[in-house]
Amino acid sequence: MSKITIHGKEFVPYLSEGQIKERVRAMGVEINSNYDGKNPLFVGVLNGCFRFAAELMNHIGINSEINFVKLNSYRGTESSGKISTQIGLNSDVEGRHLIILEDIVDTGNTIEHLMEGLRAENPASIKVATLLYKPEAYHGDIKLDYVGFEIPNLFVVGYGLDYDGLGRNLNDIYQIVLPKTHPEI
Ligand code: 5GP
Repeated sequence: MSKITIHGKEFVPYLSEGQIKERVRAMGVEINSNYDGKNPLFVGVLNGCFRFAAELMNHIGINSEINFVKLNSYRGTESSGKISTQIGLNSDVEGRHLIILEDIVDTGNTIEHLMEGLRAENPASIKVATLLYKPEAYHGDIKLDYVGFEIPNLFVVGYGLDYDGLGRNLNDIYQIVLPKTHPEI
């Protein structure tokens, strides 16, 4: 892994594919033991979750279903704060055990918006599984039940996460390099 440039911004390697896979496997093991016999419905949040969801499913050995929703909140490297639903869930969630799959929880706005909508449909339970979590940016009240990695409040790309459309194909996760604020002497 070496430094990369996307849309003129530099990114450095942060989490390797191997580290990600190992952690996602452990999350799968935990979910299997907590949900055996409950036929959970995974709710993947597109677009960013597609690789995390696919990798997690490699390790889910219990009866379960998966469906996807698509929300919109991000512009460039900063959250717009405004969330809209582009594609809704077409499964009946009443009485179901839901596990939301997120690529990253940053401010928490997206997960709150989604939770609000899902709660209104009377599921039996809702838990959250996120590959990445930025505790310094999070201002929500929702408990994050399965967290892959806690990361600093810096923009990341790769493994499904994009920067203005690019970078989702990268197998590793990269962190943005911030411009130096003081000139070197
Ligand atoms: P939140 O609503 O929690 O602020 O942000 C959630 C969504 O913003 C994520 O699903 C993801 O699409 C996007 N996001 C948040 N932080 C990052 C980041 O560091 N990199 C990328 N590529 N997307 C991010």
